[in-house]
Parts: sequence; C-alpha cells; structure tokens
Amino acid sequence: MRTPPPVPILMYHAVEDAPRPPKYKHFYVVAEEFAGQMKILKRAGYTPITFGQLAAARTGTFTLPSKPVLLTFDDGYANLLTNVHPLLGELGFSYTVFLVSERVGKTNDWVAAEGYEPTPLLSWPEIAEMQRDSHVSFEGHTATHPKLSTLSPADARREMEGSKDALEQKLQAPISVLCYPYGDVSDSVAGTAGELGYTQAVTTDFGRARPADNPLRLPRISVYHVPPFSLTYGIGPWNFRWRLESRKDARP
Ligand SMILES: [Zn+2]
Repeated sequence: MRTPPPVPILMYHAVEDAPRPPKYKHFYVVAEEFAGQMKILKRAGYTPITFGQLAAARTGTFTLPSKPVLLTFDDGYANLLTNVHPLLGELGFSYTVFLVSERVGKTNDWVAAEGYEPTPLLSWPEIAEMQRDSHVSFEGHTATHPKLSTLSPADARREMEGSKDALEQKLQAPISVLCYPYGDVSDSVAGTAGELGYTQAVTTDFGRARPADNPLRLPRISVYHVPPFSLTYGIGPWNFRWRLESRKDARP
C-alpha cells in the first residue's frame, strides 16, 4: 500500500471584496485573490476533502486522492456567504467553517482589544442557508474565542463543551472538530477536547498534516492577503503555490 500523501490544511479567515489597510493582512484574502487560488488548486489537480475523510484515511477506511487538500475558514465571517460559498459550490469543493457559538450574528469583537475594527460574522439564518449545500461543514471554535491554555481547566472545558452543545443543537449535526483560538493549546486543553468528543483539532502550527500526527493537534498552512506583486512576497499566486507545496514543517 502506498504511503498516504500529507494533507495541506489551508487556513483562511475572511474573504473581502477589496483590500484592507496593511495591518489587517493576516485576517483576510480578497475575493479575486481567493478565486485565483481555487483555480490554481483545480488546475494542479488537488481534490478538497473533508475532516471525516481525513479521519477515515487514518483508520484505512478511505483512500486519499493523490493530491488532497482541506479548506478551512476560521471564525465564520459574513463575507463567506457571497465570496466563498457560491464559488466552492460551483467547483464542487468541500470546505469547513469554524464557528464561535456565542458570536454568531455578531462580530469578531475579540480583536477590538488589540486595536482592530471588528468584522461581521455569519448569522444563524445565513448558516442555515449555507447548510443546505452539502459541500460545507460547520465545526467548533469555542464559545467566545479565548486563549484556552490561559483559562482554568473548568473554564476551558466550558468554552469547548458549551460551543459543541450549542452548535449541535442549532445545526442538528454532530460537531467533532475543534479549532483552537489563536492556535493556543496545551496538553491539558487537548486532553479535555478529546474527553468532550472532539476527534480532530487544528492548530496554527505551519505544516501539512500527516497520518502519524496527533489528530488533536493538526498543523495548517495559513493563507493571507498578498498583493498580486509584492516586494516582500513576490508574485501573489506563486506565493500561494509555494505555501501549498512547502515541505517545511514547523514541528517541535
Ligand atoms: Zn479564530
């Protein structure tokens, strides 16, 4: 049997209509830039898979395509509805959105303390509308987006459990994947996530996911705004391709 290929799990946040001031760079890509990246994936023969398929590949009940990729969107920004959902539906690409259960229909107010202007998040009716399309999965990103390792074990548990319960009830679907806010995780946090029934969880550590990885600490590859031509990052689409195919892994 061939060794399963490593899986780049791409981490997106918002997908905006137009560029924002430079300090927001890590929070978004522009819609046009995103569409170009999806075209690159398609042309290069990548097949977007789901977390369910990634788990099944680990147990040998699913054979990964030769070039798998997993598309994830943190926080559930409202602009996914117009700038991501129709395009990925058209392409037949599966993707996962991580929701902050107590901020649905509000804004990402946790950035305000750092001096950023909050961005609107998807509402329950918008989520329900997206849910009618089988290409999208919603998973958990805690109740209020705290740094879990800085909370007491009881509070951290409440964040992960409350979010799972609320999302399962609202979405009428099992929630089994967790995205740690800020990629912040400790052994205690990951242990609690497992106890609560999360079977996979993602961090912000850079790298492609491999079968031997701890499923509760899967690394990802962040994708953020790069202008079409940039002195720092070179040509935007090439930068994306480099990140996608990078063999560099930031592992402890
Ligand atoms: Zn987040």
